[in-house]
Amino acid sequence: MPTIPDATTPTGIHFDKENQTMQVTWRDGHASVYPFTLLRKECPCAVCNDLRARAARDPLRVLSGGAPTAADAIVVGAEPVGRYALKLRWRDGHDTGIYSFEFLRELCPCPQCQGKG
Ligand SMILES: [Zn+2]
Ligand SMILES: [Zn+2]
Repeated sequence: MPTIPDATTPTGIHFDKENQTMQVTWRDGHASVYPFTLLRKECPCAVCNDLRARAARDPLRVLSGGAPTAADAIVVGAEPVGRYALKLRWRDGHDTGIYSFEFLRELCPCPQCQGKG
């Protein structure tokens, strides 16, 4: 059996619709709060990766063509993918992003994780 590191094992996942955040507590005791807009911006699926790559090359064209707005960046559903990831469904129907717990832990926006604390 491979050992599962505490830092990337969630013990609880909570969606706060009022504040539009996803809150994750980890087995090592850390707690992460992710604004929905951050999760949508960092969506790891191929479609969004492509969109970001194009935006880097040609920001003006992508801005005029269908980038998700804050109103679309609302999580309407979530389901576990195996034991290692979470799939999020968004209000605009987008549901191809699979967020591995390792990725989420790296994405934690708190000052401690971002090396500012
Ligand atoms: Zn995506
Ligand atoms: Zn953190």
